[in-house]
Amino acid sequence: MVGNTTVDPLAWASVVTKPEINSVRNPSTGHVLDVPRLIRAFRYERAILLRQKLKALVKRGEARLVCATCGVPVYLACSTTKRFFFRHRHEDGSCPAVTRMELSEADIRAMKYRGAQESAAHKRIKELLLRSLAADPRFKDVAPEQTWKASEGLSGLRRPDVSARADSTRLAFEVQLSTTFMDVVLSRKEFYRLERAALVWVLPFFHPSYRRMTDDDILFGNNSNVFVVDESTAAASEAAGTFIMTCWYRKPVIQGDKIVDEWVERMVRWDEITVDVDRQIIVVFDYAEEATRRREELRASRLERIAAAEAAARQALEDQENELREQVLRFVVDASCENDYLPRYKTWLVLNDRLRSVGYGLDGEYPDLQTATRIVHLIESARAGKPVGFRYKSFAELGHHLIHQHPELLLAFGHMLRRFGTRDALYSDDRTGKLRAKLDAIRSELTQDPKYRMAEDEERLCAFLSMGTSRKARPDNDNRDLNGREAA
Ligand SMILES: [Zn+2]
Repeated sequence: MVGNTTVDPLAWASVVTKPEINSVRNPSTGHVLDVPRLIRAFRYERAILLRQKLKALVKRGEARLVCATCGVPVYLACSTTKRFFFRHRHEDGSCPAVTRMELSEADIRAMKYRGAQESAAHKRIKELLLRSLAADPRFKDVAPEQTWKASEGLSGLRRPDVSARADSTRLAFEVQLSTTFMDVVLSRKEFYRLERAALVWVLPFFHPSYRRMTDDDILFGNNSNVFVVDESTAAASEAAGTFIMTCWYRKPVIQGDKIVDEWVERMVRWDEITVDVDRQIIVVFDYAEEATRRREELRASRLERIAAAEAAARQALEDQENELREQVLRFVVDASCENDYLPRYKTWLVLNDRLRSVGYGLDGEYPDLQTATRIVHLIESARAGKPVGFRYKSFAELGHHLIHQHPELLLAFGHMLRRFGTRDALYSDDRTGKLRAKLDAIRSELTQDPKYRMAEDEERLCAFLSMGTSRKARPDNDNRDLNGREAA
């Protein structure tokens, strides 16, 4: 077990230090892709699946990627330290990138030695599997090394380690060894898929932190579930009279704001296992579906957090505006004649700067305090239904004053009277009916003549301080004009 590198399935895939093939081309689009960038864009589990897919496509003669230098189809390979690179499908010396190597004698000796060691383990697992299946009466035709001929119209021949039948499902069990190459995994999968049978890979041993390349090929190709048969599962099968294996699977859990894996190891009965013959996927736990659900949950809670933060920010802004509005209104209303003008003007400049910072201040280097004062008095008069701050006794007098001295304030005044419900106070003071006559005469010009229009900054300030009541109400609200008649 020396020198094994095991990668977190959710970690980003890494590339070998100096990939011989540095760029690959997609022959259908002509796009050239940088190899390190391409590889690092995948999570490790995805890279393993991509590797299987590219291999299968190359074998079918449908290369999705070719060497950008020579145009030979390439597939994704993985080093012993689980770093990825591209390899030519064949090499004839015409490409400067050399990706295939002759095996040294030492390599071959080591492989033979490992092979001999493994064949003993292989035999042992096969026997344990036979014992386990024989213990369960639901399994029929349990047999070792039986030749499996392809059905009519299909070609090929396989000899699964153990074959059996459970109900209507035909099963082929293969013991996975470190010498099981990806090609073998893929071609057997395809063979049994066409046979409408299920291929079950059985491992002699598994541990998530010690995974060989072939373990990863089977694990990720099988929705992150692997099965182990050993002495203890065989004993459990015999004791229970039902086929039992150990299943290892990944379980996605949310930790903070991301998804991490938990590994689960437990003994499972055959009836806990779901067999999907079309996809050749045999699982106890649907990792992919669970991961999708967890990602949705994360997304939802992220959106919730964003919405809450936005609401809090809106509330903070509203609080700040309310406080500023109160301060400006009090500053004007509470002023007395004894206040010195200069310090008062300085305070106003500070307030106006704050108003400007939220978009409602008066423009210019010397914003007029009198204008601001008039606006506040207008608002307070409309609210009170009597003159506030203006030196008039009756509300009607204030109306005459506005018509002659400040026609630009008439529209805002009218809107506020309506919204504050103080319009009647204006006419109850108008004993002679003169005010009503004047207003009747100018009504048609109110929205046309520029003299009835406030300067933009003054209008904005007035709307801010009156909380929008100085503006025409939206159509769904009260829509009557200054004289209390329904608008046309
Ligand atoms: Zn090449």
